[in-house]
Amino acid sequence: MNSDFEAVIGLEVHAQLLTDTKIFCGCSTQFGNPPNTNVCPVCLGHPGVLPVLNKKVVEYSVLMGLATDCTINEESIFARKNYFYPDLPKGYQISQFEKPICEHGFVNLELDNGKTKKVRIKRIHMEEDAGKSIHDQGDTTLIDLNRTGVPLIEIVSEPDINSPEEASAYMKKLHQLVTFLGICDGNMEQGSLRCDANISVRKKGASKLGTRTEVKNMNSFRNVERAIKFEIERQIDILEDGGEIIQQTLLWNADLGKAAPMRGKEEAHDYRYFPDPDLVPVIIPDDWKTDIKNKMPELPESIKHRFINEYGLPVYDAEVLTTNKETAKYFEEVLQETNEYKLVSNWVMGEILAYVNDKKINISDFPVSPVNLGKLINLIKSGKISGKIAKKIFPLMLENNEDPIKIVEEKKLLQITDNTEIENVIDKVLKENKNQVEQYLSGKEKVFGFLVGQIMRITKGKANPKIVNNILMKKLSALKNK
Ligand SMILES: [Zn+2]
Repeated sequence: MNSDFEAVIGLEVHAQLLTDTKIFCGCSTQFGNPPNTNVCPVCLGHPGVLPVLNKKVVEYSVLMGLATDCTINEESIFARKNYFYPDLPKGYQISQFEKPICEHGFVNLELDNGKTKKVRIKRIHMEEDAGKSIHDQGDTTLIDLNRTGVPLIEIVSEPDINSPEEASAYMKKLHQLVTFLGICDGNMEQGSLRCDANISVRKKGASKLGTRTEVKNMNSFRNVERAIKFEIERQIDILEDGGEIIQQTLLWNADLGKAAPMRGKEEAHDYRYFPDPDLVPVIIPDDWKTDIKNKMPELPESIKHRFINEYGLPVYDAEVLTTNKETAKYFEEVLQETNEYKLVSNWVMGEILAYVNDKKINISDFPVSPVNLGKLINLIKSGKISGKIAKKIFPLMLENNEDPIKIVEEKKLLQITDNTEIENVIDKVLKENKNQVEQYLSGKEKVFGFLVGQIMRITKGKANPKIVNNILMKKLSALKNK
């Protein structure tokens, strides 16, 4: 980025709430059902029907507000946002405008450079989702109204974000919060968590904001970063050439790596917002708020601190292990079996996350149970097997979650810790490799590794490396002093 300029970015994030039914009717919210089967007169917007608010939607919204230190407004109001589009049969979307349910919160981001950054949350409001227009089925456009009326919260940040990396870190933070709270599945590809970015640039030190554009359609953390970087650079290029930024909405195309204009941006008042006459104000008395607060699960920040303080893990480990709820849960379940905290952390962050990412599965579907991983780690710690043998056993455990103790017994993989047995092998190796022994004695110390390798080959990696090193060293220095 040209260093004379700075970017000012605000994000509007929509999260689909994980309720069983829609926000104002009893229709299912199930994703992937046949088109237009999750519908009824209410969500189809037939005349004369009345919306009834889903209580869960309020509770989930309050949870998110509490998790982001927002003020929870005792009274909030639903408003109609009027616009015409084929996937919006009522001709208006029920949303919140002047009085949202939550306001004035913040989140803290931990950035890659080790710094933290506070991003203020302007508001969180409840609204209904629109339907879906399908443009890729031949030369017609089809409408699926299953999504119409699925509950959303919109989380609007203040323009506190200044780089593509911060934007992506902010999205990751929100993703972490909604999934730990269990209020959204966080699936960006399926659109359950979506992000629009308002972006402008200005000369560093300028107090006036530049003209902003809105970029939509970024369906992964990486695309959030790429799209915002693209748009910042585009705006700077225009300004440097003496041009002007036009206020407009751009659609990010991940395949082309470009954002292209969609339509002229409507001003807020074009929507002719007014309070929905069919819905009474939402009142959240203190005792309800307290009830919801009591149901709040432990948040990632608190789990992270616990991992650092209780288990003595490095900050990095604690962060990786709390990236999502399932990983944190898996880690703690292994600790039911063993208290080798750091070793467990290494295995989870290494072998297990590598497997899970490679197979693109959730860690809750990981084939090795936490109990069996715990047993494997105990085998290593007690010296019954070496780390090397453990890495050999692990693929066998992946096949059908077999008990590692059983595998070790069946395959006779127990580590040889019997000194006499190891000594015999070492004597054999020293006898068979006279040349190398000479080399070692004449000062070529590297040969030591070769000799260890020979011992390990004969014992099929089962000799305890510490004992091997000790005895070999002793024997070699005895030869030297002869
Ligand atoms: Zn319905």
